[in-house]
Formats: sequence, structure tokens, C-alpha cells
Amino acid sequence: MGVGVDWNRVLRWLERLQRQRERMERGPRPPKSSLPKCGARTRAGHPCGAPAYRRPGEYEPRNGRCRMHGGLSTGPRTAEGKARCRVAALRNLEKARSAVETEAVRGGEASAT
Ligand SMILES: [Zn+2]
Repeated sequence: MGVGVDWNRVLRWLERLQRQRERMERGPRPPKSSLPKCGARTRAGHPCGAPAYRRPGEYEPRNGRCRMHGGLSTGPRTAEGKARCRVAALRNLEKARSAVETEAVRGGEASAT
């Protein structure tokens, strides 16, 4: 009776060692608190605290949102979709500008009285 060597087991062990070495070479992961937050407004009204989505193996977030708030999206693909996105962005910009202006007017009145 020979000594049976389970080569599948040996292979699995070698693969595990390899993975461990790769982890060591990549260095320690940055702490979770240092990762950028999603910040989208949730239905509860407060900013989302989930970390921004990063593709596996990447440190840089794709677009700064978490996986629930568009982090998986890579944006519009077709020319039509991109145009629509531009229009919406301009509209939001316009809204933000007018909000800032009314705020400034109100602030001026408050300090004058
Ligand atoms: Zn989020």
C-alpha cells in the first residue's frame, strides 16, 4: 500500500498560499472611514453614509456614489442620452444659481433690518 497523496488538496493549498502572498504585496487596505462617502440624499432626508462604489480591486471610486445610488452606473451611452443628461445638468445648475441669488437677497434684507 503506497502513501496516497491527494494532489487536488496540495493544489488548493498552493493556490491559497499564492492568494495570501498577493494580499501581502498589495499592502494593508485603507481604513473604511477614509473611503469617500456616497452622500446622496436618502428618503429619510439625511445624506447616505455608504462608501462610494469601487470596482473590485480598485481604490478609486467610479463616480462617488454607493451601489444603491448610481455607483454601478457608467452614465448615458447613446448620444441622445448624453444630450438629455446635459440638459438636466444645466437645468439643475440654473435652479442652484437662482436659489443662491434669492438666499443672498434674503440675507441682505435680514442684515439691513
Ligand atoms: Zn448611497
